[in-house]
Amino acid sequence: MSKSLQAIRGMNDILPEQTPLWRYFENTVARLLDNYGYKQIRMPIVEFTELFKRSIGEVTDIVEKEMYTFEDRNGDSLTLRPEGTAACVRAVLEHGLTGAGQPQKLWYIGPMFRHERPQKGRYRQFHQIGLEVFNIDGPDIDAELIVLTWRLWGLLGIRDAVKLELNSLGTSESRGRYKVALVEYLSAHLDKLDEDSQRRLKTNPLRVLDTKNADTQAVLVDAPKMADYLDDESRTHFEGLKARLDAAGIPYVINPKLVRGLDYYSKTVFEWVTDKLGAQGTVCAGGRYDGLVEQMGGKPTTGVGFAMGIERLILLLETLEQVPEEISRQVDVYLCAFGEAAELAALALSEKVRDQLPNLRLQINAGAGSFKSQFKKADKSGALYALILGDDELAQQVIGFKPLRGQGEQQNIAFDALAAHLATCVVQG
Ligand code: ATP
Ligand code: MG
Repeated sequence: MSKSLQAIRGMNDILPEQTPLWRYFENTVARLLDNYGYKQIRMPIVEFTELFKRSIGEVTDIVEKEMYTFEDRNGDSLTLRPEGTAACVRAVLEHGLTGAGQPQKLWYIGPMFRHERPQKGRYRQFHQIGLEVFNIDGPDIDAELIVLTWRLWGLLGIRDAVKLELNSLGTSESRGRYKVALVEYLSAHLDKLDEDSQRRLKTNPLRVLDTKNADTQAVLVDAPKMADYLDDESRTHFEGLKARLDAAGIPYVINPKLVRGLDYYSKTVFEWVTDKLGAQGTVCAGGRYDGLVEQMGGKPTTGVGFAMGIERLILLLETLEQVPEEISRQVDVYLCAFGEAAELAALALSEKVRDQLPNLRLQINAGAGSFKSQFKKADKSGALYALILGDDELAQQVIGFKPLRGQGEQQNIAFDALAAHLATCVVQG
């Protein structure tokens, strides 16, 4: 194929053989979030560039080097969304959803875009499911966000493979005091810091804690710890969160170096990490952002949320072989018909059956074919049963019913009795 007809590097097709697992994952999450009282919101994929600069922060990996930014035909600078929180806050403000201190528990799903180096678990178009809660100060709601993800890992069968890391970044005042101490300490070791960290020391010192550079990490071992600078309010909040996680029986580790990649976090930050996916180990990450809404021009409104990376969770399900067998079977019954008259009768009959069994997955053979070829297709479809309609059956107003996976003998069923019979042998989702 010529190069221009290939997909863009890091942007993947999700092929028919993969979509059942995606849908299983998405449906599991959607049902869970319904049960916890979260409402879905859908935002556009493209926003004004300014939105992301203002919310995510100019000195972050995302804004400095990962955004897909372009000018549209009006000369406006637009950006493919790199994450969902900014657009969600924008939408909430634009439509007054949090006016008068009204609480909101929202979730969204969709593609995000970041110009990163593509590798396993890291792509340029990837998908997130995110939750954002407004006007609930926590720590009860911070705990709920974590508790429901823990339940999700249980439903998906991956609890043993993920670990919760927690930290508190305090209020902006206590973070300010901590920053001064951190900058003082790091400045005394300037020559041992990597180039990026030296630059960040001036622009966004907390981000130095996030470094992957081993020499800088060594310097950080003795650096001041945020925990020692927490204000009383943040400390009480954090203790309240930990008490709730203990009550729910959810294990966690405190990671004092957890600062997250975005500028807007305060108080709670957390990540669910796995050691089963190599370097791309964070499957879900979030935290509290009490200052963000105001920073974006709204009234003071507290917020807390997280986003999970769908690709990484799908990879984890595959790696741990936690893919339920039944999700790949998409056909219950395959109907074979032989000759024009039988085809017409088969169509009429199958529509009647669908009226009675709306959830039945009934595939009707298309393109005619010999007995042998239709039967092969029936088997290949993964169906549990084949229905067979030829001239003989048509004359008697019956249809052949043949189990394909060794569940009993072939028999003839009267047209009128077919739906009732199928209802007894096909489990309907
Ligand atoms: P990382 O440190 O791995 O770059 P991040 O801190 O940039 O992650 P967030 O912005 O917090 O990630 O996004 C939340 C989640 O979205 C991540 O934990 C991850 O599961 C997923 N994610 C982020 N970037 C990518 C990507 N480029 N490809 C696939 N998944 C991603
Ligand atoms: Mg990143």
